[in-house]
Amino acid sequence: MSEGASVQQVVILGATGSIGTSCLRVLAAHADRFQAFALTAHARWRELALQCHEVCPRYAVLTGVQAEDVDRSAFPTTTEVQFGRPAAEELVRHPEVSTVVSGIVGAAGLHATWAALEAGKRVAFANKETLVIAGPLVMSLAQRSGAILLPVDSEHNAIFQALQSGRHSEVSRIILTASGGPFRDWSRERLEAVTVEQALAHPTWDMGPKITIDSATMMNKALEIIEARWLFDFPASQIDVVVHPESIVHSLVEYRDGSVLAQMSPPDMRLPIQFALSWPDRLEGTSPRMDFTQPLNLRFLPPDPDRFPALTLGYEVADRGGTSGAVLNAANEVAVERFLQKGLRFTDIPRLCRSILDAHTFDSAPSLDELLRLDHWARQEAIRW
Ligand code: NDP
Ligand code: MG
Repeated sequence: MSEGASVQQVVILGATGSIGTSCLRVLAAHADRFQAFALTAHARWRELALQCHEVCPRYAVLTGVQAEDVDRSAFPTTTEVQFGRPAAEELVRHPEVSTVVSGIVGAAGLHATWAALEAGKRVAFANKETLVIAGPLVMSLAQRSGAILLPVDSEHNAIFQALQSGRHSEVSRIILTASGGPFRDWSRERLEAVTVEQALAHPTWDMGPKITIDSATMMNKALEIIEARWLFDFPASQIDVVVHPESIVHSLVEYRDGSVLAQMSPPDMRLPIQFALSWPDRLEGTSPRMDFTQPLNLRFLPPDPDRFPALTLGYEVADRGGTSGAVLNAANEVAVERFLQKGLRFTDIPRLCRSILDAHTFDSAPSLDELLRLDHWARQEAIRW
């Protein structure tokens, strides 16, 4: 959309989460460009009702509770409250909606994201799990429908920006940065005894619990390798990871002449969210800026797959494709939940994933139904493991 165009009607899937909340702040800062059309949440209806008073969307949807569990009077009278996943999917298809922010966590975000792509919307997606599960199907759907898929994940947003300096065929590799999480320097022995509280304390980013645990195991980077593989269409062999504890350089692209382009900004998700909403325009920023009047040391360190075996899983799945992403993702979701419930050790998360991945019957070109069946199978196996 360029200057003078009408206000973009936006659906925020997962409005009550970390991404959703940051997104609302972007909308508030650019009310002349973006209007909240609908907000969705799963169960936290009180938080959703408060958000509705702030931005007055036309619709609010709760997918995980029934009407009788919710006090309708908590919502503004001008917001129509609906229930269930089909209602959310119908709203993302609404003809007045131009943009959908995919901020639901986990495989649960796939259906509504899929609906938005099918309807040819601009999809600003944080929900990386959708691409991990069904990358090739998602990309070909977007191509068929004319949907625009814009990454909110800070690394992929950075790569998207850096890729605008050259051609696809001129790229020698893309380099994802990783903070390394809270246990970057920990020995294998110490990692065995990580507690839930320690794993939930991320040094540089403030995010929802699932991705915070994924960052601590480095499974988040594994999922991001797979996300990058499908989104940008580079083989796993052209995707590198470098540990960068400061989380200032959000990722890099190296071209064949040796030039490396980086995107830098203090860690704050409002910037990539805004860019995904406004692209190809750049709007006035609202998040903190780089301060070069102070000394700044940036470190880049090689990752250690021996201590963080999730990375090896990420490369393997990015290389293999097929059914392996759906299985890895489902196994990891259950493993993270079991760890958060204190029913699994921290170091068991990648072990569980490895074991379920190795046990599954691989198919190189599955349908969406087959992927959803395997997602279910992997969850059952991961509960039993
Ligand atoms: P949060 O846990 O903070 O929020 C999750 C949101 O999804 C909430 O609105 C929640 O509703 C909703 N939700 C949860 N379960 C379901 C379900 N079964 N069906 C429908 N809605 C559901 O997550 P984040 O915001 O941290 O992460 C969202 C996505 O963005 C993830 O895929 C993550 O990997 C990705 N991401 C996040 C980043 C971040 O900075 N947080 C950075 C990069 C990517 P309710 O509140 O009612 O439970
Ligand atoms: Mg990321």
